[in-house]
Amino acid sequence: MDIELAKKIASFGLCDSCLGRQFINIEGSNNKERGKNIRKLLSIEESRHCWLCDGIMNDIEKLADIAINALKEYEFDTFLVGCNVDEEILDKEKRIATEQSESIKREIDREIGKIIEKTGKEANFEMPDVVITIDTTCYNVEIKPRAIYIYGRYRKLKRGIPQTKWPCRHCHGLGCIYCNFTGKMYEESVEELIAEIPMKITLAKDESFHGAGREDIDVRMLGKWSSIHFGA
Ligand SMILES: [Zn+2]
Ligand SMILES: [Zn+2]
Repeated sequence: MDIELAKKIASFGLCDSCLGRQFINIEGSNNKERGKNIRKLLSIEESRHCWLCDGIMNDIEKLADIAINALKEYEFDTFLVGCNVDEEILDKEKRIATEQSESIKREIDREIGKIIEKTGKEANFEMPDVVITIDTTCYNVEIKPRAIYIYGRYRKLKRGIPQTKWPCRHCHGLGCIYCNFTGKMYEESVEELIAEIPMKITLAKDESFHGAGREDIDVRMLGKWSSIHFGA
């Protein structure tokens, strides 16, 4: 490690994580530990107020708790963590980054991921069940569950029901006097009738209906069942 460079970087007044993150090739199980080791070597105190992260790195547990709490509403096995960091911090990061620096975003994602994994869930980068986005500027968490796909077939025994939701021609779904403020041309549709049930079971917020071939409103679908793909 370049001692002079480490001194220069440390002089900005950094927490251990932010200091250690600029020298990821030195020994240590995480950046916090690396920073601590560098600080001891330079015989300096940890900065009480971190110039770079403004205290975020000391709040990793807190941020993870917010995420774990929000995740209680979801049934899942695998997850992926991503975070938003204030532009000002990202600009500051560029000013002190060395060739051995890791980005603050990457460290936050990984450290929070490690804590969530302790609850028995597994991080997955390919196809996670839920994507967790942590906003470190306002300590807010957004959870996006992966869509559930259901394949099936249906029969339509009655005429006069459109296949998909049909927005009102006049208001395009806003609701107006022509559509009796329903926003729709027709009261019901095959899409809505079918989607209602899995949406209730999965507590889905929205759905999308893909029919394999279209049918007219005035036809029935008999005999060989009509095929649908359904995503909630
Ligand atoms: Zn810091
Ligand atoms: Zn209308």
